[in-house]
Amino acid sequence: MTVTQTFACLIDGELVTTGETMDVVNPANEQVIARVPACGEAELDRAVAAARRAFQTWRKTPVEERRQVIQGIAAAIKDNADELFRLLTSEQGKPHSQAQMEIFGAAGMAAAQSTLNLEEEVNEDSDQRLSRTRRVPVGVVGGIVPWNFPVMMAIQKIVPALLSGCTIVLKPSPFTPLTTLRIAELIKDVVPAGTVNIITGEDSLGPLITAHPDIDKITFTGSTATGKKIMEGASKDLKRITLELGGNDASIVLPDADVAKVAEQLFWSSFSNAGQICVAAKRIYIHEDIYDELSQAIADYAKNVTVGDGAQQGTGVGPIQNKKQFDRVCELIQDAKDNGYKFLVGGDVDPSGSGYYVPITILDNPPEDARIVAEEQFGPVMPLMKFSTTEEAIARANASEYGLAGAVWTGDTDKGVEVAEQLETGTVWVNEYLHLSPFTPFGGHKQSGFGTEYGIEGLKEFTYPQVITVKKNAFA
Ligand code: NAD
Repeated sequence: MTVTQTFACLIDGELVTTGETMDVVNPANEQVIARVPACGEAELDRAVAAARRAFQTWRKTPVEERRQVIQGIAAAIKDNADELFRLLTSEQGKPHSQAQMEIFGAAGMAAAQSTLNLEEEVNEDSDQRLSRTRRVPVGVVGGIVPWNFPVMMAIQKIVPALLSGCTIVLKPSPFTPLTTLRIAELIKDVVPAGTVNIITGEDSLGPLITAHPDIDKITFTGSTATGKKIMEGASKDLKRITLELGGNDASIVLPDADVAKVAEQLFWSSFSNAGQICVAAKRIYIHEDIYDELSQAIADYAKNVTVGDGAQQGTGVGPIQNKKQFDRVCELIQDAKDNGYKFLVGGDVDPSGSGYYVPITILDNPPEDARIVAEEQFGPVMPLMKFSTTEEAIARANASEYGLAGAVWTGDTDKGVEVAEQLETGTVWVNEYLHLSPFTPFGGHKQSGFGTEYGIEGLKEFTYPQVITVKKNAFA
């Protein structure tokens, strides 16, 4: 896709460009496809001031009107899905089918979440007093988004902010700003001026947002390392924070799992979006009784999946999104080679040609302390490991500083649930993968996050509880 349009930020209801710009690269061919504004302190200040002004009105706007605005955002995305998914593939790399799922998923998520209700709670209604807890918006939110699901993550921050009565200043990843800026243009007249501000800039814009004295809350999705910096920065004025961070998600395959059926699902649980999913299966523990059969079935399946440009029909796995991540995945593969670990599939990155392509790579029983097992790979790499007892598999799965998601595959769902309940992660699937609901809380345990997104619990994170207590008959 050749991108010819101009990309501008949305500040206070206006499309704004800057003298300074940043290049955006198509990871499928390393070509610069567009330039976007490189905002700094001045644009941030302007956006925060607009969000602060808009907050005074928006917080009092009836929730039914706020819902309608969100539904307008959902409609703008859905009505322009064809253009948006192609643009998303050109900047992010994911195959068209997966880009379509992200765009329609984001529209669906927005529409569904617009129906959420923050009910008041009555704490006491006695002869003495009436005490109730209501939810009030925290104020101006700073949203910071990664490059793996740029649209879904942006929507997941904008929607609960607006619904709760907050206003937002959102920063996309410098690697994937285009689709979000196009959405900014599409919703310019849908959202009241200042309620949603979208500004693009280098990583260095992030700490300015975290430190900004007039921002009340940060909602962040990205790496654990950056999450820690945000927590530190936000501590200066005790900003509220929600952090969705990294994961090293384990799948456990019990000996009664149906090998033929599980192989394909396991494959896509690891290789969708070229493995660049926070909840992608990154360590697969397979019972020794079925290890050989299942690993062969996964390897056979992998051989029929094409790695290539996501814009080409038939591509199943696209390129890595950016050079930095490509280098990191290559380093992990090289480390596995240097240590003599066995590769079932792939492992040879072709250095010639353009595009950040890593072949589908599957390792055969590397040790637990291999870097490719112990670290979040975030690439098309799947280490398969053998286990003997369920207790051992659970202990190995839990031996991680991360705690985002996991899965259990079995013919016996009761047994699956018994294992799931012992995993130290925020989400565990039994016999499926990657299913997230707009109404179900999602968040990480341990170093995979702080707080929750999605559902009522996620919405509450954009509010403070306020308790109003009225003494009855005080002066009777
Ligand atoms: P990243 O942490 O490098 O960047 C994320 C965002 O933070 C970008 O917009 C970046 O510009 C900004 N940023 C960078 N330095 C900053 C700083 N010091 N202060 C404030 N902002 C800063 O992450 P990434 O490489 O874009 O994304 C990949 C990571 O995101 C993976 O670890 C993945 O697991 C995680 N992730 C988590 C979830 C989840 O829901 N838990 C979802 C998607 C991705």
